[in-house]
Amino acid sequence: MQPEAALRKPIRSLEEAIDRCQDLGMRLSRQRRFILELLWQAQEHLSAREIYDRLNQQGKEIGHTSVYQNLEALASQNIIECIERSEGRLYGNISDSHSHINCLDTNQILDVYVELPPELIQQIEAQTGVKITDYRIDFYGYRQPEAAEKHRSQELA
Ligand SMILES: [Zn+2]
Repeated sequence: MQPEAALRKPIRSLEEAIDRCQDLGMRLSRQRRFILELLWQAQEHLSAREIYDRLNQQGKEIGHTSVYQNLEALASQNIIECIERSEGRLYGNISDSHSHINCLDTNQILDVYVELPPELIQQIEAQTGVKITDYRIDFYGYRQPEAAEKHRSQELA
């Protein structure tokens, strides 16, 4: 495999995230590990402030500056996700292309992989003259507790 292709392989676990840091020659300080562990455990989109608070609540001492610097370094190497919101930046564990479901009532952002039908992509390309190589969709809506429950029991069945 070409080295560039290896770098673009999606990261699917905490171990793979740590491996990617090592492949890139990034220093893996304790603090950097703490942040990666937290993001993979939480599987949410968190602000730097929330990450700082949660780590310190868990007794993992880390300073504000260290949190910010590590998040910047990890995001700039595409090891974690960074999204810009009006309230500030949020960080997530999934760094390859994915879509978001924005819950308007709970303010949560859920990650979801959505694949559009090839015909639709071809139609968009024909309309715009742009060759689509990637896409991310933002969905907005309200939580439906019953529907989620039903879906889960179907998955288990
Ligand atoms: Zn995300």
